[in-house]
Amino acid sequence: MKIAVFGTRKYDQDSLRAANEKQGGFAAFTFIDALLDSQTAILAADHEAVCLFVNDICDKPVLEQLRALGVKFIALRCAGFNNVDLKAAAELGIKVARVPSYSPEAVAEFCVGMMMTVVRKYHKAYARVREGNFLLDGLLGFNLNGKTIGIIGTGKIGLLTGRILSKGFNANVIAFDPYPSPSAGEYGITYVDKLEDLLKVADIISLHCPLMESTKYIICDDSIAKMKKGVVLINTSRGGLIDTYALIRALKTGHISAVGLDVYERESSYFFADSSAKVIHDDTFARLLSFYNVFMTGHQAFLTEEALTNIADTTITNLRDLEETGTCACVLSEQPK
Ligand code: NAD
Repeated sequence: MKIAVFGTRKYDQDSLRAANEKQGGFAAFTFIDALLDSQTAILAADHEAVCLFVNDICDKPVLEQLRALGVKFIALRCAGFNNVDLKAAAELGIKVARVPSYSPEAVAEFCVGMMMTVVRKYHKAYARVREGNFLLDGLLGFNLNGKTIGIIGTGKIGLLTGRILSKGFNANVIAFDPYPSPSAGEYGITYVDKLEDLLKVADIISLHCPLMESTKYIICDDSIAKMKKGVVLINTSRGGLIDTYALIRALKTGHISAVGLDVYERESSYFFADSSAKVIHDDTFARLLSFYNVFMTGHQAFLTEEALTNIADTTITNLRDLEETGTCACVLSEQPK
């Protein structure tokens, strides 16, 4: 099968090539640096499948172009699918598959590391010590032991994050999820009935729900107003969960005392590329980066050897099954939960 792989970095190419070899060389890849959008869709000509990641744009007009070019399958090499118009894909007869779980541990472990970084200020200490400055002023943190940590969304990643925090740090881990998990108790997590109940009491809030219409800007002026003054916010899920303007307002007043972000709502213009010698034109993004108490990474939480291997293996299996049987275990229906 000829597969156009958009937005590829070297680590994607290495892991996909290795998985393809393991699975008998079913795939013929064309690796493309550019992200998929209406301008680059033409590069998928003569391919039966496209392979996409989180920031490729796959809306209705792009899907129509892909269909006209003969593309039958979309293999997402990620779990989130908010960037694909599934309804339009179904109407056009394009099958979409994803990698629902490649390493929730990778994201959960990264998330806790990010939490520790902003609470204990590792990033500031690292820069200081390298400059020969061993002063501790400004590095004051607080213990996670006994703190109330609110998890929004207790799917695979939220549950594991909760477990590390409750069992490893002895934190009081509470959660909100409209579809509570029956195993949450085993992970040391207690549910609250309403999101508001979590917002009111949590010292730290960590986002783990997917980006959907119902969760867009779940963190906004209204929800921030309900949070404790001085709350710490962590987002390793999707940028669109946070209204960045509201976040900036809360950082300016000190209502939110520190933030760890692995994602940003308009990240696609910058993430996964080197912009170090370019001007940042997104003033909101630049303002966010300028806060002393904001720690950002470039959508890195998934990036472990284990995750890349699982992503590549599942992607090849998905495409082979789709071609051979018309469906696969990880196919996305038009109306996901
Ligand atoms: P999952 O599907 O297993 O769990 C998502 C949970 O969110 C579900 O339990 C669902 O019921 C819950 N949810 C839905 N609406 C909600 C709401 N309004 N409030 C609270 N909870 C709600 O997903 P997962 O594998 O745990 O991944 C979570 C998210 O993490 C993904 O959607 C993706 O956006 C993100 N992610 C980020 C990275 C990264 O590298 N930063 C990597 C993988 C996944």
